[in-house]
Amino acid sequence: MLAAAAIVAAPLLAAAEAPHAPSKKSSCDVLVTAAHVITMDAADRVLSPGAIAIKGGAIVAVGTPSELSSLYSPKQRISRPRSVLLPGLVNTHTHAAMNLLRGIADDLPLMDWLTKFIFPAEGKNVSPAFVKAGTLLACAEMVRGGTTTFADMYYFESDVASAVDQCGMRAVLGETWLDFPVPDHKDLAESIAMTRAFLQKWKGHPRVIAAVAPHAPFTNSKESLVAARDLALEFKAPLLIHLSETKDEQKQIAEKYGTTPAKWLESIGFLGPNVLAAHGVWCDADDLRLLAERNVGLAHNPESNMKLASGIAPVVAARKAGVAVGLGTDGVAGSNNDLDMWEAMDFAGKLAKVSSGDPTVLPARDLLRMATIEGARAMKLDDRIGSLETGKRADLIAVDLTRARTHPVWDLTSTLVYAAKESDVSLTMVEGRVLWDGVRVRTLDEAKVIREADEWRNKIAASLAPPAPRAGAK
Ligand SMILES: [Zn+2]
Repeated sequence: MLAAAAIVAAPLLAAAEAPHAPSKKSSCDVLVTAAHVITMDAADRVLSPGAIAIKGGAIVAVGTPSELSSLYSPKQRISRPRSVLLPGLVNTHTHAAMNLLRGIADDLPLMDWLTKFIFPAEGKNVSPAFVKAGTLLACAEMVRGGTTTFADMYYFESDVASAVDQCGMRAVLGETWLDFPVPDHKDLAESIAMTRAFLQKWKGHPRVIAAVAPHAPFTNSKESLVAARDLALEFKAPLLIHLSETKDEQKQIAEKYGTTPAKWLESIGFLGPNVLAAHGVWCDADDLRLLAERNVGLAHNPESNMKLASGIAPVVAARKAGVAVGLGTDGVAGSNNDLDMWEAMDFAGKLAKVSSGDPTVLPARDLLRMATIEGARAMKLDDRIGSLETGKRADLIAVDLTRARTHPVWDLTSTLVYAAKESDVSLTMVEGRVLWDGVRVRTLDEAKVIREADEWRNKIAASLAPPAPRAGAK
C-alpha cells in the first residue's frame, strides 16, 4: 500500500495537454509504462500505474498508461510492469576518473592518504588516457545504479567530457585548479588558459556543462579563487569547490584570514548562485545563512565524511536555513569506495538520525528529494531535470520491485530509500535514450572498459613500485 496522500487519481492531464482532435493520436518517440511513477514534482504526485511519453529527449506527458496510450502512438514502447519509475539520481560531488584508484589505500588519515598514495599515483599516471578510462568505468557504474547526472572535479576535464558524451550521461564538469603543479597545469596562467579552452569547446552541449573548480579555500590563493570566479562569470559557468571539509581546514583559514572558509569566500566576492560547494561539514549557523543568502548549493557526502572521519555535516540545519542540499558520493579512491547513490541516501538519513538523537529528521521523502530534485536545485539544473514533469528532459530510471527485499510495500518511498539496492535499477534513460536496460550498458563496451581499468591498475602499481636493486648492490 502506498502513502495515500501522494496517490493521484485520473484525470491527470492538464487541459492544455488534451488533444484537440480526440481521434488523432500524436506521435512520440518512447512511451514508458510502469507499476508506479514517482514524479517528485511540487505536488508529489505518484501514479499507480503510470506512464511517461517522451519526444525529442523531453517529457511530453505524464499520466496513466491508458490515458497516454489513447493520446500517443509511440515509435517505441518500454514496459516495466513490476518497476517504479522515478527521476534519475543526481550525484552532486565526485571525482569520476579516480575510479582507477579505487581501494589503492584505505583506512588512513587524510594527509597520509593524499601525500603517500594519491599524489604520487596521480603525478606518475594521470593523463588524458587515464582520465578517459577512469571516467568510462565510473559512467558504467553510475548508469547501472540509476545515476543520470553528476558533478565532477578533476584534471583533463575535456577528456572527462568526451567519456561522458560517449556514455550519454549528463554532467557538470569542473576543471580543478590547485596552486601547485598538477598533471595538467603547472601554474595559474596555464590553468586559466586550458580552462578557457575547455569552456569554449563544450559551450552549448546539451548534456555536458563545463565548469571551473578551484580545489578549496585552503589550497587556493585569493588570486586563483578570484580568477576562477571571473572566468566562471564570463562564461556563465558553474563554480565547484570543496568547502569546510575538515576541522584542520577551519583552523588553517582561521589562522590565515581570521574567519571561516565560507566567510572568507564571501569577503572576496566568490559566493553566488553558480557555486556548488562540497561537504560544508564544519559550517556554523552564520555560514549556512550566508550560503542560503547567496543561493549556494551544497553537496553532502555522508559516506566520505564518515570514512575519512571528517565529521558530521549540519545537513538538517542547512536545509532549514534554506540551502539546497544534494547528495554525493565523493571519489572512490579511499573515501567511499563506490558511486552508489542508494547508499548515499541511506547513510545520509541514518547519520542525521544517530547524530541528532532524533529518528524523525531527514525522513525517506526528504532523502529521495535530496537525491533528485533538490540535488538538481543545488546544481541549478532543476529547470531541466530532477522531477518527471512535462517539459523537463527525459532523465529517468526504473527500479525493479520483484525481489524479496522490497516486499511487502507499505510505503513506496520508504521501500526505495531504505530497502532497494542499486542492483534493483532496471532502466536508466538520459534525454530519452536508454543507457542501461537492466541487462547491459547500451552505450559502452563494458567488458572492454573493465579490462582497461584492470590494465591501468597494473600500470599504476608498476609506477609506484620501488626501483629494482642494481646488480651487485647489497
Ligand atoms: Zn571531493
